[in-house]
Amino acid sequence: MRRGNLFVISGPSGAGKGTLVARLLDVVPDAWVSVSATTRAPRDGEAEGVHYFFKSEDEFMRLAREGGLLEWARYAGNCYGTPRASVEEHMAAGDQVILEIDVQGAFQVREKMPSAHLVFIEPPSLEVLEQRLRGRGTEAEEAVKSRLDAAVVELSRKMEYDIRLVNDDLELALGELVAYVNEQADNPRG
Ligand code: 5GP
Repeated sequence: MRRGNLFVISGPSGAGKGTLVARLLDVVPDAWVSVSATTRAPRDGEAEGVHYFFKSEDEFMRLAREGGLLEWARYAGNCYGTPRASVEEHMAAGDQVILEIDVQGAFQVREKMPSAHLVFIEPPSLEVLEQRLRGRGTEAEEAVKSRLDAAVVELSRKMEYDIRLVNDDLELALGELVAYVNEQADNPRG
């Protein structure tokens, strides 16, 4: 059994983090992905406890005040946070814990857990990102704009991550991500 490690995966909305993480779970048997809490409304096909724990603003703030979140941030008008207890349990059980969270959350995690590995997923270009966001068809025009604005801020912090992967070719990016996770898990820090 390997020792538990924490991997933070960030990158602009539409960079393909979700797809990469889903595929990673298929090939790394001890990988586990945390399910976040959010005040965002569910999209079609999203299920409670599978994609997110959907909360009201009051419920979310209570959870944050009570120390139930490892980190949390506002992103494009909604709150998102990582439930603390399940992350700690999976780390203790020796899992490779994956957090798919925004850049603000990533740096909060690094503060609290300096051994965390920070991975940034880049889109090939902002133009491609915009096409992907519009093509997804889940976001209203305003939301697309606010996600593109957020993307510019996120991209400006990519050099602070431990590693950057460009998601141009999904299979190549997946191979690089799996190799990085296995390399870090097999040679833990400290
Ligand atoms: P979406 O609304 O597209 O599901 O997510 C919007 C952004 O919020 C994405 O960049 C996603 O990675 C981020 N996010 C999801 N869960 C969390 C979380 O628990 N904490 C933080 N800080 N960001 C999150």
